Amino acid sequence: MLERSIVRTDFLPYARLPELRAVLEGRYRVVWQEAARAPGNAACRRRAPASRWKARALHIPSGADFFRPCARKWPSFPWATPAAPVAHQAPPRTDKPLALVNLRPCDLAALRILDDVFLSGDVVDPFYQARRQSTLIVSVDCVTPAPTCFCHLVGGAPFTDAGMGLHLSPLATGYRVHADSDAGERMITELALAPPELREEEELPARRQAAMEALAAANQRFTLTRSPYTTVAERAASDRWQDLFAGCVECGACCRVCPTCYCFYLFDELTGGGQEARCRRCRTWDSCITADYARMAGPPNAKPNPRPRLRTRFANRFDHKYRFHYETSGEYACVGCGRCAEVCMARSDPREVLRVLEQ
Ligand code: SF4
Ligand code: SF4
Repeated sequence: MLERSIVRTDFLPYARLPELRAVLEGRYRVVWQEAARAPGNAACRRRAPASRWKARALHIPSGADFFRPCARKWPSFPWATPAAPVAHQAPPRTDKPLALVNLRPCDLAALRILDDVFLSGDVVDPFYQARRQSTLIVSVDCVTPAPTCFCHLVGGAPFTDAGMGLHLSPLATGYRVHADSDAGERMITELALAPPELREEEELPARRQAAMEALAAANQRFTLTRSPYTTVAERAASDRWQDLFAGCVECGACCRVCPTCYCFYLFDELTGGGQEARCRRCRTWDSCITADYARMAGPPNAKPNPRPRLRTRFANRFDHKYRFHYETSGEYACVGCGRCAEVCMARSDPREVLRVLEQ
């Protein structure tokens, strides 16, 4: 179990922000999610070593990228003796642990979905688990939504009280700081912060209300009268899909940037020949929008591809995010971050898709 409920709440004056930074940098390799999406708002961006990005082009990184590196290669083993043991455990880290700073509530919501996929059930991904357990997440409430943000339409909000390590809520003179982990608590203990005063606690609801209103105002054109689940479930066979997917060029960028997409592709890489041949198992991320994604091997006359048409693959992506995932978990597999709308060269925007389907 990675998450804990709030263990402590304190107040960090803005003047003491450099102290928090110094304590963080003393203990962790700190990566700041870049603030580039909207003026005054540090939404959903980060700087990161390029090697960790899932794709170099058409990519808007998210916190999730740190836990789903672009490709994973297991140690190779001799092909002639395939029974040789293959390490499936993540090697212990000896360097400084990582602190991911400036993640937003939508990033946290996306990580919860990935945690559910990679950390629950019978099979746990040891690499994902090792990285999650060794990373401190410092998140911040959103103050100003980006033009493509719509977390409120999919059950989210630009603020949260459920962080994953240390969560900061901006107020007039400083941050209300929640520690949701032992590591987070150690940080605020070291800073010797005081609890928020009553006026600071009272300020928070009004600020959060204002953030919600700003988000609703920015999405006025996309006001929905029904839930995304109802719309997508009822319009599965709608003719409107024909227009909605028309500009799609099947580039897969929408899946590449999505912090909740987790489909992957496994393949074996063979090097050398004869007795010297070695095999290496590799994993890369996959996209359900591409033609090869659903292709299957099978006996003659078996259906080789259940979704040969782009129209059905395009609709399936929405089905999965707003319908199937909701039916199995009660949550959407979309956190409303808007990354897919920003990168799509066909200008496909989930809000517009839902609006058109709803009509
Ligand atoms: S919807 Fe847009 S981003 Fe996604 S595959 Fe089609 S063109 Fe590419
Ligand atoms: S589908 Fe689009 S808006 Fe929703 S989480 Fe993925 S990238 Fe963000």
